[in-house]
Amino acid sequence: MSEVRQNTPFNSSANTAQVRTVDVVVIGGGIAGKACALGLAQLGLHTIEIAPDLGNPVPSPAGSQWGQRIYAFSPSTQKLLAHLQIWDALDHSRLQVVRDMRIFGDRGEKSDQLHLSAFEAGTPQLAWIGEANLIEHTLDQAARFQNKLEQIADVVEKLEVDADGVTLHLKNHSSIRALLVVAADGANSPTRSSIGITASTESYSQSAVVANWSCTKPHLETAYQWFLPGGDIVAMLPLPNKQVSMVWSTSPENAAALLRLHEADWNQKFAQIANGAIPKQLGTLTLHTTLAAFPLQKIRAARFIGPEDAPKVVLVGDAAHVMHPLAGQGLNLGLRDVATLLNILSKRESFRSPNHLVLLRRYERQRQGDTSALLWVTDRLKKLFSGSSNTERQLRNFGLGFVNRSHFIKRRLIERALGDIDFE
Ligand SMILES: Cc1cc2nc3c(=O)[nH]c(=O)nc-3n(C[C@H](O)[C@H](O)[C@H](O)COP(=O)(O)OP(=O)(O)OC[C@H]3O[C@@H](n4cnc5c(N)ncnc54)[C@H](O)[C@@H]3O)c2cc1C
Repeated sequence: MSEVRQNTPFNSSANTAQVRTVDVVVIGGGIAGKACALGLAQLGLHTIEIAPDLGNPVPSPAGSQWGQRIYAFSPSTQKLLAHLQIWDALDHSRLQVVRDMRIFGDRGEKSDQLHLSAFEAGTPQLAWIGEANLIEHTLDQAARFQNKLEQIADVVEKLEVDADGVTLHLKNHSSIRALLVVAADGANSPTRSSIGITASTESYSQSAVVANWSCTKPHLETAYQWFLPGGDIVAMLPLPNKQVSMVWSTSPENAAALLRLHEADWNQKFAQIANGAIPKQLGTLTLHTTLAAFPLQKIRAARFIGPEDAPKVVLVGDAAHVMHPLAGQGLNLGLRDVATLLNILSKRESFRSPNHLVLLRRYERQRQGDTSALLWVTDRLKKLFSGSSNTERQLRNFGLGFVNRSHFIKRRLIERALGDIDFE
């Protein structure tokens, strides 16, 4: 029997023979799924969220150890979380504001540097860095008090889509009927494949090794990124209390070697790369978390709504797109999907039901440009910095310096990085 944790107005006996009907089912219990389910319920839509991991509420992060999954949150994410009344409820002592970003080329020359500054751009900050757990915990708390939202810890095994809606069959043998299904079930989205949406997938043949460190020098509220010869990328993102979060993208073989590296040897390793820039900026680093590695890939779903003949399912988050983490934008993009969907449904004409084809097409149209642009730029940057020819090397390093000298391009870059969404 699936676990239901909610003060719900629904009859939550999941195994009854009668099929319950709700407005929306959100499949997925990651940040995109949780934010979307909460937002839909806040619009007054009866919403059920289903995911196997919903049975274990995420505990509040506490203490001096920061969680292992650290994200850069863009201002567009902040806007969505504020709209959902989550932002003010977060423990802000666990969020680090980013005021500067410094990106370095792989020749080690001073001119091969791009510096983005909140001050120059006339904005209070470029981003925030914080724990995934912090956001998830606060979303869980808000869900408990939202009586239009029910969370079910289970797995969706099968979907049947017809002209009026979708019937979902769960692993516990119960079924639920919804007008609309939002698939937020991650990069391998079983929903995406079950409704026949194809996805182009490309492995980057890289893994990201992540860990948190404390540093002896102040990070100056700056996110640093070094492109290294051979295609490795090392990012050091600032955290509160003189800590940094490392994301080191490298070959799977080197990732395995880094995971085996003895703690005492890491500072020597840092001194060997990027001409010793890491200890120069951050001093001596002390490991605060266990190291973990994540394989990196690019995925783009061919459609964001489906199935083809009678769309009643919308893809959001990694179910729709996955990108290289070099720009720290994957989740931010996914939350812009959520914001767009909430906007469209909140402004829908009174005669349209939430699964009306016009609304779903509107959603897909509005998400195409942002997704394509970000996937393209991230992919080109990744490939440009992996190329080993002399021309590529000169081009990328000259490019960094050139962009750095152009206020116009820098401004556009910052505008893109900030992302924009509006709620009316
Ligand atoms: C190293 C690294 C660093 C990153 N850094 C950043 C960053 O700084 N900023 C940023 O914006 N992004 C970043 N990202 C990207 C970010 O991690 C993802 O975009 C984000 O986690 C995706 O969230 P999601 O909710 O869409 O999917 P997920 O978090 O993958 O959630 C999927 C959910 O679906 C559920 N599910 C799966 N199958 C079923 C089923 N059949 N039935 C029911 N439920 C199901 C799962 O249990 C899970 O709850 C980074 C990624 C990596 C790898």
